[in-house]
Amino acid sequence: SVITNHMPTEELQALDAAHHMHPFTTQDELAERGVRVITRAKGVTLTDSEGHEILDGMAGLWCVNIGYGREELAEAAARQMRELPYYNTFFMTTHVPVIALSAKLAQLAPEGLNTVFYAGSGSEANDTNIRLVRHYWSAMGKPEKSIIISRQNAYHGSTLGGASLGGMVPMHQQGGLPLPDKHHIGQPDWWSEGGDMSPEEFGLMRARELEETILHYGEDRIAAFIGEPVQGAGGVIVPPETYWPEIQRICDKYGILLIADEVICGFGRTGNWFGSETMGIRPDIMTIAKGLSSGYAPIGGSIVSDEIAKVVNATEFNHGYTYSGHPVCSAVALENLRIMEEERVVETVRDVTAPYLKQKWEALTDHPLVGEAKIVGMMGSIALTPNKESRAPFAAEKGTVGYKCREHCFDTGLVMRHVGDRMVISPPLVIKPEEIDMLIDRATIALDKTY
Ligand code: PLP
Repeated sequence: SVITNHMPTEELQALDAAHHMHPFTTQDELAERGVRVITRAKGVTLTDSEGHEILDGMAGLWCVNIGYGREELAEAAARQMRELPYYNTFFMTTHVPVIALSAKLAQLAPEGLNTVFYAGSGSEANDTNIRLVRHYWSAMGKPEKSIIISRQNAYHGSTLGGASLGGMVPMHQQGGLPLPDKHHIGQPDWWSEGGDMSPEEFGLMRARELEETILHYGEDRIAAFIGEPVQGAGGVIVPPETYWPEIQRICDKYGILLIADEVICGFGRTGNWFGSETMGIRPDIMTIAKGLSSGYAPIGGSIVSDEIAKVVNATEFNHGYTYSGHPVCSAVALENLRIMEEERVVETVRDVTAPYLKQKWEALTDHPLVGEAKIVGMMGSIALTPNKESRAPFAAEKGTVGYKCREHCFDTGLVMRHVGDRMVISPPLVIKPEEIDMLIDRATIALDKTY
C-alpha cells in the first residue's frame, strides 16, 4: 500500500522503526518517545502528523535560514530539472547554474576568495579541504606539511575525514578514528573549562595551544588549522574576544593555512554574510554548506584563496564528486542567495532581529537554572547549572538535564537542541520579533518544568 502523510502516526512510526536507521539516535530513545513525524512546514513552523505546530528554533539542522515553504525555490528546482537535471563538471564541461553560483559566491565572499570547489555536503567539503591543503603544500614543494590542527569538541562532519578533523570523542570511539596526521587542541569554552581565569586570559591561553603544537611538530610539518568561527554543534561556544586575533597572528607568523568552517556560521547566521567577518578572521579557505541553499538542496563546497586556486589549478587535482556543482542544487542555492539579497535578510538580522533576540536571550540568565547566555547573530546557547557562581555541572550524568529540557521544549511546541547541559538555538533568519517572543516564552516554560 502507498505510504502517505494521512496514515495513522503509529503505523508510520512502526514502519520507521522497522526500516530506518537514524543518525545520532538510539533505538531505545525512539521507542521511549515514539519518533515524531514531521509532515509539513511554513515560515518558522513545523507541523507533525498529529497536527501539533512546533516553532523550529533550530532551522532544521542549522540550515533553513530563509524559512520553510518558499515557492521560488521549488520553482527554481523544477525549472532546472526540466532544462538540465544533471550534468557533471569533470574533465572539460560546465553549465550555467554552476557558473552563476560561483560568480555570486566570489562576490559575497571576503576579498581574495574567488574560487569554489563543490561538494554535496559540509562533510564532503571538509574531506576536500584535507586533500586540498596537502596537495597545495605538495605542489609548493613541501609535501611533509601534512598535519591539520583542529579543536576538541569541534564538529566538521561525519565522513572519515570530517569526523577525524572534528573533536567529538564519541565519534572517534567508533570506526577507527581519527585518521592519522590530525591534532586536536582545546576549545575556547570559558564557562566549562576557564576555571579562575578571566575569559580574555583563557581565550589567549587556548589560542596559544596552537602555537605550542606548531612548535612541537615544527612548522614544516603543519598544513593547516581548521575552526568554526563559533563552534556550533559543540554547544554554540562563542570564543572570548582575544581568541581569534591570536589564532590569526599565529597562522600568519608560521605560514599555516587557516580554514574557517562556515557550514553553520556562513550565509547570515552571525549577522554578516560569513562568520569570519564577524570574528575578524582572514581565512585561506572557507567550508560552506547548509545556509548556502537554506537546506532546500544538498550542496556544499570550499571557497579558496586566489593563491591556492593558482597553485592547485596549475596541476590536475585528482578529486571530485558526481554531484560537484550539481545543476539543480546550484540553481536552488543561487535563488536562495537572490532572495536573501533582495529581502535584505542579512542586514535585517544584523540591525533588527539579532539585537532583539540578544536582549531577550540574555535575560534568560534571570532564570534560576541558567548560568551564562551566549549569542552571536542568530545562534545562541544557555548553560544550565545548579550553581551559577561556581559554574558547577549537575551531579546527574552529563546531558540528562539538557535532555529533559529539550523534551519539555518539544512538548511546549519548540525545537531547541541540547548539547550536554547546554541548550542551543539557531532559528530561521527570517524569524519575526513576535515569533522570537513566542520562542522565549516557550523556552521559559520548558526551563520552569525542568527546574
Ligand atoms: N561543519 C560544520 C561546522 C557543521 O556544523 C556541519 C554539520 O552540522 C558539517 C561541517 C557537516 O556538514 P554536513 O552535515 O552537510 O555534511
